[in-house]
Amino acid sequence: MVKEDLLLTIDSDAEVENDSDSSVEDVKEEPSDINPHFEFSIGDEVDEIKDWEAETEETNKDVNLDEIIEKKRGDLPEEDEEVVESSEMEEEVDQIAQEGAEDEEDDPDAEEFYESPQSNETTSTTTFQELQLSRPILKSLQSLSFASPTPIQSSTIPIALLGKDIVAGAQTGSGKTAAYLIPLIERLIFKNSTSTKAIILAPTRELAIQVYDVGRKLGQFVKNLSFGLAVGGLNLRQQEQQLKSRPDIVIATPGRLIDHIRNSPSFSVEDVQVLVIDEADRMLEEGFQEELTEILSLIPKQKRQTLLFSATMNTKVQDLVQLSLNKPVRVMIDPPKTVASKLEQQFVRIRKRENLKPALLFQLLRKLDGRIVVFVSRKEMAHKLRVILGLLGLRVAELHGALTQEQRLANMKSFMGDVNVLICTDLAARGLDIRIEYVVNFDMPKTYEIYLHRVGRTARAGRKGTSITFVGESNQDRAIVKAAINNGRSVARKVDWNDVEAINKRIDEKESAVEEVLQEEKEAKEILRAEMQLNKATNLIKYEKDIHSRPKRTWFKSDVMGQLTKQGKKVNSKKRKANEEKKENEKRSYKKTKADRSKKSGKRK
Ligand code: AMP
Repeated sequence: MVKEDLLLTIDSDAEVENDSDSSVEDVKEEPSDINPHFEFSIGDEVDEIKDWEAETEETNKDVNLDEIIEKKRGDLPEEDEEVVESSEMEEEVDQIAQEGAEDEEDDPDAEEFYESPQSNETTSTTTFQELQLSRPILKSLQSLSFASPTPIQSSTIPIALLGKDIVAGAQTGSGKTAAYLIPLIERLIFKNSTSTKAIILAPTRELAIQVYDVGRKLGQFVKNLSFGLAVGGLNLRQQEQQLKSRPDIVIATPGRLIDHIRNSPSFSVEDVQVLVIDEADRMLEEGFQEELTEILSLIPKQKRQTLLFSATMNTKVQDLVQLSLNKPVRVMIDPPKTVASKLEQQFVRIRKRENLKPALLFQLLRKLDGRIVVFVSRKEMAHKLRVILGLLGLRVAELHGALTQEQRLANMKSFMGDVNVLICTDLAARGLDIRIEYVVNFDMPKTYEIYLHRVGRTARAGRKGTSITFVGESNQDRAIVKAAINNGRSVARKVDWNDVEAINKRIDEKESAVEEVLQEEKEAKEILRAEMQLNKATNLIKYEKDIHSRPKRTWFKSDVMGQLTKQGKKVNSKKRKANEEKKENEKRSYKKTKADRSKKSGKRK
């Protein structure tokens, strides 16, 4: 893996992005900017992920789709790979864009509509020094080139350092990870015993690994500070070994944490003083309510400081706040209402050429240089595009809900390595935090908010970035484009449609090969599943004595899960959510008093 590939760098004259609007209850703060000299190597983290992945149990083998595609490509008759580009570019100017251009008085032919009327630049009044942080932390912030705190950091750090509970409304990209890690590490600098003193809960393994890596970077100059990881899908025994050393800070997904509390004799939460619940809304969306309740009951409330971060504040999150926090200070940072100032938004009007979109995408991807994320609305499309592009000779990675944890991690790893294109759905892209030069909206998002979220993957922390959006004819699509060009720099992207047509012809010729690859993949998966079952059965016979002599693991919610698995049913997150909702309706896991309820409704706005 090329380490330089993973360097996050920005121009020295970089501007500041987003988060211009913020408010804090109890504590007032001024927005501040993101460091313009930011350079963050995540090379080490990748090694870390690789190490963990190597520990993954053998049963997690998977079908190699790239190999199937490669083989199929070899079977196909040879073709001229390089399509000769038409010298005459057909000028395809988006009508909506034209409307925008006509508004430009000085230069009506200019492709650029107008600069965003609202500058995203913010001024910093707080520095990390003013936050009175210790030397080792200031040193690590310097080594990460975090020159000044982001709004969420300058709001939360002083409050957290006072030991108060916090409920913070903050999105991914706001700097929330360091906002809780900095005060946490600060608190542990003068620790005097070896035990787990802080737990950070994250909804997914990927996010937990990211937090683990940022934590180790921020704590690199603090003597004897240790981190542990307890996440699902990775080797349980290896994690048990790591937790045996009682790391100071453990980053965990809820289910796996409960498993360790129950089954790893040397791991204990009795000394835990700080609990962080990251992406609380997502955690609840994923159906972890009962696990959270159980964890909260296991870590004593009196001596616990709890910090809860959530992008949205719905009723479920409010309930969790009631349950877990003690007189919390609320910190709300508004999500960006406009795009980053260094983002160039390009639009391609598709008109009646919907069928040409895969060809258009291929044409684009061949031209773009850098890391590219392509958003599609359906996971089936993400998978099919991977096959089509693969057969045209372009390796891409995919990320969506239909993949297993192992596949998601493997795809992310290749995207951080030698594959520069990732095709994904909105849900899967949450929390994606690597340098990206281009965002392509293959399908239009449903709302302008989602559009902002997608294009916010690029042009971060003052770097340049480009978004390219394929625009359909619906009113919804047009409304989003209008909002986009009103709030940022926009251009109509010229497309050589003759070239696209030629590529589409090649794709049409490969239609049956695409079907064959998908069929072959399906069959290979079935064979693999059968092999794994056979292996499992053989091992059960071979190690029967060993297996029976092990103490029985107990599982959280073993009643519901156990019954379903006994019936041979796979418990997926949807079923788990349905079960939880059913149980919730029958009997609440915790009883609220009248006083609680009125207190809660009084707090809600
Ligand atoms: P997060 O919201 O925690 O996912 O952070 C978003 C991105 O901002 C990450 O790439 C961080 O490394 C980066 N970041 C966080 N805090 C700062 C800061 N104070 N200065 C510059 N970059 C930062």
